[in-house]
Amino acid sequence: MHAALESIYERVLSRNPGEVEFHQAVREVLDSIGPAVDKHPEYADARIVERICEPERQIIFRVPWEDDQGGIHINRGFRVEFNSALGPFKGGLRFHPSVLLGTVKFLGFEQVFKNALTGLPIGGGKGGSDFDPRGRSDREVMRFCQSFMLELYRHIGEHTDVPAGDMGVGGRELGYLFGQYKRITNRYESGVLTGKGLSYGGAQVRREATGYGCSFFVEEMLRARGESFEGKDVVVSGSGNVALYTIEKVHQLGGRVVACSDSGGFVHDPKGLDLDLLKDIKEVRRERIAEYTEQRGDATFVPDRSVWEVPCQVALPSATQNELDEDDAAALVRGGCIAVGEGANMPTTSAAVRVLQEAGVSFAPGKAANAGGVAASALEMQQNASRDSWSFEHSENRLREIMVDIHARCHDVAEEYGSPGNYVAGANIAGYSRVAEAMLALGLV
Ligand code: NDP
Repeated sequence: MHAALESIYERVLSRNPGEVEFHQAVREVLDSIGPAVDKHPEYADARIVERICEPERQIIFRVPWEDDQGGIHINRGFRVEFNSALGPFKGGLRFHPSVLLGTVKFLGFEQVFKNALTGLPIGGGKGGSDFDPRGRSDREVMRFCQSFMLELYRHIGEHTDVPAGDMGVGGRELGYLFGQYKRITNRYESGVLTGKGLSYGGAQVRREATGYGCSFFVEEMLRARGESFEGKDVVVSGSGNVALYTIEKVHQLGGRVVACSDSGGFVHDPKGLDLDLLKDIKEVRRERIAEYTEQRGDATFVPDRSVWEVPCQVALPSATQNELDEDDAAALVRGGCIAVGEGANMPTTSAAVRVLQEAGVSFAPGKAANAGGVAASALEMQQNASRDSWSFEHSENRLREIMVDIHARCHDVAEEYGSPGNYVAGANIAGYSRVAEAMLALGLV
């Protein structure tokens, strides 16, 4: 790490004790922006890096709700409004039992750079709750979402803070959240949330955008080394929103996805995963991935093991943070992997990133590769503001252009700053530079 950034990092550690994921996310950025700090001493004078590491506002609140049997539950809600130099705070809500303040801060911090990379006018934020929607009835989920919004509504708005979905928050949850916001405020403010259903102000391709976008980015990354998806075996972790639409697009681009997973284990189908069956299990029936083998005789379900033991040429981690460690990375290299693209946020540990890069594997960090979701959200905001609605084809083309552009920026900036082929450096320096320039222009606010 650049000497001038070490004391900043030490201060982040001491002021945010125990928030290990937040520390990891900050460290990853500070480790790579040294050359930009040297090039722009005016940013250091304005203490831009210190300011970027401190959220503008952090909101924590109680969320009481009642289950179907009349039992009372108390969860904790969070919204971390990290940085609004480029536009309103923008970033998803995560409902998962593992959510702590440090989780939301790591995600919010990443979001600032990711949103900057899209080139669109959006700041960064993130939110969520330790509520677990798995196994809950629709009515329980609705009561939770209504209670959550009863506090969140005070802090959000189309020009202030615009949440979306993330793990555990999909179309069903966003519908309940939007319905409650509309009821409390008596305003049909479509631009306050993104990822909405198509029947009430949502946009084409938002649901597919993170997975499609990641596939487009990796396609570009493969092209840069003279390769393509054509004929390649691909492994995708997870089987949620990002994973399903990554599998869909990889198949369309000529790859064959042979394995995916959930927190119970992984499914291996050497002939290529049957996406219709997967969607039926995960989106319609909301069941476990193990069900897949009931209907596909050739496939196997392997419980409690890492999906990264399946040999592939391209790996797309799309489940959760730190799901791919050093040993997994070594297994991927041994199995002939040439490219890894992060559909999830920070799924690869720092040690695993080093193993991959040293072995010559092209590595796309999440803040670049999974930016398609937030980019499509910004397009949804644009359509809401102009009371317009674009076709699927037009929306997908815009998404593709944005991802090709992000790839080019990361690639070129990495080269400009002396780290050719290092997309981590390219993404961090490009994102940081855009935010820093805006912060400098806005003065000490
Ligand atoms: P979903 O809730 O739709 O799906 C998450 C999937 O990951 C589920 O299949 C879940 O399985 C699985 N999973 C969770 N923990 C583990 C684990 N420890 N090991 C294996 N599988 C696991 O979430 P999303 O698809 O929306 O999000 C996935 C990732 O992508 C997250 O990191 C999110 O932050 C990131 N992301 C999402 C965006 C979006 O638009 N949705 C945008 C950008 C990034 P189970 O059901 O067993 O928990």
